[in-house]
Amino acid sequence: MAKHSFDFDLFTIGAGSGGVAASRRAGSYGARVAICEGVRVGGTCVLRGCVPKKLLVYASHLRDEFADAAGYGWSLPGPPTLDWARLVAAKDAELDRLNGAYLRLLGGSGVEVIEGRGVLVDPHTVEVRGRRFTAQRILVCTGGSPHVPDVPGSELGITSDEALALTTIPRRIVIAGGGYIAVEFAGIFASAGAEVTLLVRGYNILRDFDDDVHAALAEELQRRGITIATHADIESVERRGEALVVGCRGEQDYEADVVMWATGRRPNTRGVGLEEVGVALDDQGAIVVDDWSRTSVPGIFAVGDVTNRLNLTPVAIADGRALAETLFNDNPTKSDHTGVPTAVFSQPQVGTVGLTETQARALHPHVAVYRTSFRPMKFVLPGRQERTMMKLVVDKDTDRVLGVHMVGVDAAEIIQGFAVALKCGATKKQFDATVGIHPTSAEELVTMHKPVE
Ligand SMILES: Cc1cc2nc3c(=O)[nH]c(=O)nc-3n(C[C@H](O)[C@H](O)[C@H](O)COP(=O)(O)OP(=O)(O)OC[C@H]3O[C@@H](n4cnc5c(N)ncnc54)[C@H](O)[C@@H]3O)c2cc1C
Repeated sequence: MAKHSFDFDLFTIGAGSGGVAASRRAGSYGARVAICEGVRVGGTCVLRGCVPKKLLVYASHLRDEFADAAGYGWSLPGPPTLDWARLVAAKDAELDRLNGAYLRLLGGSGVEVIEGRGVLVDPHTVEVRGRRFTAQRILVCTGGSPHVPDVPGSELGITSDEALALTTIPRRIVIAGGGYIAVEFAGIFASAGAEVTLLVRGYNILRDFDDDVHAALAEELQRRGITIATHADIESVERRGEALVVGCRGEQDYEADVVMWATGRRPNTRGVGLEEVGVALDDQGAIVVDDWSRTSVPGIFAVGDVTNRLNLTPVAIADGRALAETLFNDNPTKSDHTGVPTAVFSQPQVGTVGLTETQARALHPHVAVYRTSFRPMKFVLPGRQERTMMKLVVDKDTDRVLGVHMVGVDAAEIIQGFAVALKCGATKKQFDATVGIHPTSAEELVTMHKPVE
């Protein structure tokens, strides 16, 4: 088929972070682009992930602010109360606004939006609600969905999708999982007044993070009254009267009003026609791609969570734009997944970039570690005991800073700047030569002079 015989130059399946970014960039270069969406334009980040979650996190932080206000001389007219239903309604209104904004942005870039699930028919054809569209290139950006373990009674639990839409706060909630979604929701529900138990299968929460990060965060979550049960192997959930009872192998049962599964996510590759047209999937069901986001079938590409590389919004966006640059702007651009900073919006926050100490020691023979733990000035007058932990991991042979890790107030905001420094290959000497901003917590990251033994 000659190029002009296709309906579109690019047809994108899935209008989440990656699909929207790639389609808009391609459209801006004059490509004829269509995008189909099976649920709502915006995808996980905007509608079921980063954005609604962060709005609820903002709401939960206010509990601390109210509590600390007295230490600064403020008095409130009475005990602060949270109208959860009003908060959820305000959040939903904001999501509607964002959905509209995304639709307008796509339209403004000349991208045709097609409502409905897309299924591949062949390497150049997608079917949506019985209509067939042809395209020179097809981009699959179908994202991922919560994974619910296969145990008896698992259907009694909810996932992050429903947790974001609860209209009342449960009195007791058990959250299964120890990853970032689990600890973020633990903070949200605990601040809203729920009794929270985290059931973690492994030895600690956030096990992919630096050891000092998960130790510091676990301590702070427990200080906030969150129960963390490790090595918890859930074997069943059952309803007993009003309550749900979570049974763990060889252990006590846990009673709750709501059980939430935060037990990982799986790529949305079922029912998209991928295997039928020969697109290779890995053993997790993710689409296998190379650094150019090419699948095993020429003309079919994939970016974002469906490829299960680094499942973060900015990564899906960057990879989508890189692909559009390569295909439609004669500007070959590869996905670059090195030095990607990340945050956990727990309470307190985690911010991290680069290698953990364990990773660094596996790759470099001589590693120096700088660590500090302190009570931020902000908490002194209110008498809050929460501590901040900061850590630098340095290659002694080259003096390069390999990792920066923080648990504490504003960690996400602080680490973003240090990610630039690491991307530029900053050395510890350059950190030392940087003058701090006083009085801040962030200044500690440029004033740690003595490595820990
Ligand atoms: C609770 C939660 C919190 C998160 N917090 C953060 C955070 O703080 N920071 C961060 O960077 N990342 C966060 N993430 C991850 C982030 O949301 C994802 O990495 C990001 O959304 C991936 O974008 P994507 O384009 O790959 O997929 P998605 O955004 O999931 O978009 C995929 C889209 O494809 C659609 N779709 C699926 N199949 C089809 C089909 N056959 N036809 C048509 N449409 C289809 C879906 O409906 C969806 O709209 C969070 C995720 C969750 C669940």
